[in-house]
Amino acid sequence: MSAKADVIVIGAGPAGYVAAIRCAQLGLNTVCVDDWVDPQGQPVPGGTCLNVGCIPSKSLLESSERYVQALHELGDHGVIASSVSLDLERMQARKQRIVGELTQGIAQLFKANRIDWVPGRGQLLAERCVRVTDSAGGTRELSADHIILAPGSLPVQLDAVPLAAPQVVDSSGALAFTEVPRHLGIIGAGVIGLELGSVWRRLGAESVTLLEAQAEFLPMADTQTAREAQRLLRAQGLDIRLASRVVSSQSVGAKVEIRYQEGEAEHSAVFDKLIVAVGRRPNTESLAADAATLLFDEWGLIHVDEQCRTNLPGVYAIGDAVRGPMLAHKGSEEGVMVAELIAGKAAKVNYETVPSVIYTRPEVAWVGQTEQALQAVGADYRAGVFPLAASGRARAMGERDGFIKLLADRATDRLLGAHMIGPHCSELIAEAVIAMQLGGSSEDLALTMFAHPSLSESVHEAALAVDGRALHSMAKRRPR
Ligand code: NAD
Repeated sequence: MSAKADVIVIGAGPAGYVAAIRCAQLGLNTVCVDDWVDPQGQPVPGGTCLNVGCIPSKSLLESSERYVQALHELGDHGVIASSVSLDLERMQARKQRIVGELTQGIAQLFKANRIDWVPGRGQLLAERCVRVTDSAGGTRELSADHIILAPGSLPVQLDAVPLAAPQVVDSSGALAFTEVPRHLGIIGAGVIGLELGSVWRRLGAESVTLLEAQAEFLPMADTQTAREAQRLLRAQGLDIRLASRVVSSQSVGAKVEIRYQEGEAEHSAVFDKLIVAVGRRPNTESLAADAATLLFDEWGLIHVDEQCRTNLPGVYAIGDAVRGPMLAHKGSEEGVMVAELIAGKAAKVNYETVPSVIYTRPEVAWVGQTEQALQAVGADYRAGVFPLAASGRARAMGERDGFIKLLADRATDRLLGAHMIGPHCSELIAEAVIAMQLGGSSEDLALTMFAHPSLSESVHEAALAVDGRALHSMAKRRPR
C-alpha cells in the first residue's frame, strides 16, 4: 500500500463500501478501513446492513412468509401440503449463507477495483491522518488527501433493560434465535420491532407483544397508511400496545419480567425473550481524536452540510452517522455524491425522494410528504387512493389488503408524496420515486401505460383517482 492514498474511507457498510467503489472507479487510490468481524472473528465488509441488518432480516422475513403460506394459504390454491414443519436450523443456515455470499461479493469488488481493505478500527487524527488499530491491538497510521467517515450506527440501549441477561437481546440477537420463543416481548414498535415481531409470530410464537412509548403508531408514516398497517398487523397477532413505556426489567428464572407504564397505570409482563428495538445511535464514539477538531451535533451525529462536508477541509461524513434517515440507500447515494465531489465533479443527493419501506406483510412504503404534513402547512393538494382489493392481479395473488395513495399539488399537479401498503410495495414505490425525481405530475402517471394485469396498474389508478377518474373503483367524492 502506498504511504499516502487519495482517499481513506472509514467504514465498509453500504455508505462506505459504495463510496470506496465509486472513488476507485473514478481513478482515486482508495483505502477502506473497517473493524467488523464475523462470529468466527474473521474481518468481513458490509457493515450492519449485510451482516446483521437488512439482508439477514429480509432472508428470515422471506422464509417465514413461505412457512405461513405453506401452513395456511396454499390450500386455497388447491395445493395440499400436508405435514408442513419448521427446520429453524436450516432456515438460519440459509440466512447465514446469503450473508456470506454477499459479504464475499464485496470483498471481491474491493479486489477488482484495487481498493486496499484494511481491517481494524479507524480513528481520525489531525491533518487527514487515520490511526488504525487491529484486533490484536497493533496500530499504524495512514494519511490521505480526502477522508470519508462512514462509521454507521449502533442499537440504542436502555438503562432500564440491560442486555446482560441472556433473555434480552438487540436486533442482532433477535436474528439469531435458535428456537422460536413462546412468548416474545419487543420494546419499540418501530421498523425493527415490526419486522422482527412478524418473523417470530409467523414462525410460531404464541404471543408477540410490542410495547411502544409513543401514543401514535408509526408517526413518521402517513396517518391513513399507519392506521391500516396497525389494523392488519394486529389481526396477524402482533399485540401492539401504544403509550406503554418500559421502566424496568428483571430475570425470573429463564424468563424476563418487565414493568411498563401506560398513562398513570403500571403493568408487568413476563416473556421468554425480549427484544430491545428502540432506535439506533451514531457509531461515533472515539471516531475522531480531540486533536482532529471534528464537529458533532448534540445527538453525536457528525455535523455536515448538504453535500456531506464536515467542518474539516477534505473530510466528509455519510450514512447513519449524519443527519437524515438511517437508511442504507440514503448512505449509498451520499457515498456516490462524495466520491464525485472528490473527483471534481458536480453532485448532489435529492433528499426529497428518499423512499422508506417497512418489510412487513403487507409491505408499507412511502416517499415525499405525508398528508398530515401537507395539512399542517395548509398546502392545497389533491389525493388519489386506489384500494388493492380492486386490482385483478392482487386478487389473483390472494393479497387484497392495502391501497396506493398519491398526493399532488392542486395548482401544478406536481407529485408531493406517495404512500402505499400492499404486496411488493417496496418495488412499487420506485414508480413514484422516479416520477418525483423527474418532477412529474399525477397526470404524467395517468398518461403512462402499465401492463395488465400487474400491481403497478394500481399506481396508475391512484394517479387517475387524483383527478377523480379511477376506472376500477368508485370515487368517494369528486375532487373540488
Ligand atoms: P425506530 O426509531 O423506528 O423505532 C423505535 C421505537 O421505540 C420508537 O417508536 C420509540 O418511540 C420506541 N421507544 C423508545 N424507547 C422506548 C421505551 N422505553 N419503551 C417503549 N418504546 C420505546 O427504531 P428501530 O426500529 O430500532 O430502527 C432503527 C433504525 O434502523 C431506524 O432508523 C430504521 O429506519 C432503520 N431500519 C430500517 C429498516 C428498513 O428500512 N426496513 C429496517 C430496520 C431498521
